[in-house]
Amino acid sequence: MKRQDQHQHGDNKFESVAAANRKKGLLAALKGVPRVVGSLDHAIAPMAPRRTVIPSMDFLSCYAIAVNEVNASGGRIVTSPTNGASGVIPAVLKYIIEFVSDAPVRSVETFLLTAAAVGMLFKRGSTISAAEGGCQAEVGVACSMAAAGFAACMGASPETVLQAAEIGIEHNLGLTCDPIDGLVQVPCIERNSLGAVKAVTAAQLSMAITGVYSVTLDEAIEAMRLTAADMSVKYKETSLSGLATTVKIPLSLPAC
Ligand code: SF4
Repeated sequence: MKRQDQHQHGDNKFESVAAANRKKGLLAALKGVPRVVGSLDHAIAPMAPRRTVIPSMDFLSCYAIAVNEVNASGGRIVTSPTNGASGVIPAVLKYIIEFVSDAPVRSVETFLLTAAAVGMLFKRGSTISAAEGGCQAEVGVACSMAAAGFAACMGASPETVLQAAEIGIEHNLGLTCDPIDGLVQVPCIERNSLGAVKAVTAAQLSMAITGVYSVTLDEAIEAMRLTAADMSVKYKETSLSGLATTVKIPLSLPAC
């Protein structure tokens, strides 16, 4: 654990994180969806002086939700690699800077170059569009990219980095896109938080089990392509399935 005493929570290098932590209330575009980052920040900030590995994961979640909340409320729009998956990559990168890296500038370069290379493989071999492949193509791909970037920053070999990317997408295969009311808020914001946590876990798994892999990244990308081809259009950004048809947000939330 590095830089615990230099936590830059709310600095201006990650504007969405800083902006989200200053805001409370409801997200404007959707009827009644409350912001949660301000609450999360309040809850975990007291832990900062004595936080260990697990509480630091709370910050990871918080970073992802922050970026997505700012995105969803019409603030800074982050595309990484898509707007729906805006929080995963920034969250993992900030987590590295705040909690892991001794050389932040180098880590930023390593992370972004590695993540971009993995993203290109998905773009060429399958898709990064939810309209073509559902949420596996958005949060799933972002998770894979971030997992690879995290592993690279931890000094993993190229083979292990690719395996981190593979684990990152493998457990998102088949993930559908079903935003309520067609807005990138529910389940999207929370899903980015889980995507970030899953990315770090995927990288840690790949580094822990070096040499005993059974699925390659190429095989996982091809599986994603085939899954996307089989997926009904109802699960591809149309809001005609899943949570988009079962959840009535204005009725499920208390009056504000
Ligand atoms: S559910 Fe759909 S809109 Fe929401 S993040 Fe996933 S792909 Fe994007």
